[in-house]
Amino acid sequence: MAGEAQVDCVFCKIVAGEIPSTKVRETEHTLAFRDINPQMPTHVLVVPKAHYPNAAALAEADPRLAGAVLAEAGRVAEEEKVVDSGYRLIFNTGAGAGQTVFHAHVHVLGGGNGELHEKLV
Ligand code: 5GP
Ligand code: ZN
Repeated sequence: MAGEAQVDCVFCKIVAGEIPSTKVRETEHTLAFRDINPQMPTHVLVVPKAHYPNAAALAEADPRLAGAVLAEAGRVAEEEKVVDSGYRLIFNTGAGAGQTVFHAHVHVLGGGNGELHEKLV
């Protein structure tokens, strides 16, 4: 069923506390944690706790939850103090675009000189 935890999903495991992560923010339906391989000084991932394979699928199934993820991304940017300098929100969708974890997530990237450490996050 849509939104159910997937046994082999790393972000479902992080949400469940089965894999440790550095938590930045948490709400009833979302979790924000630091990327294990940061591409900019601020590199936080915001996920819905429910499993959807990508951002578009999330928005189709639960637009309110998709909005909550985006709002949390904005709050992360405020707390990380990257609003004035600017920040990027990235949703890689599909393996060809660099998506490696098929649980919807937005990258919040900012700080430093604005350059990514690698070409793709
Ligand atoms: P994608 O490439 O799918 O857009 O982004 C997946 C991101 O998840 C990558 O930037 C990767 O570094 C991060 N990631 C993968 N596994 C883990 C993990 O176990 N913990 C954390 N904190 N980040 C992870
Ligand atoms: Zn998942």
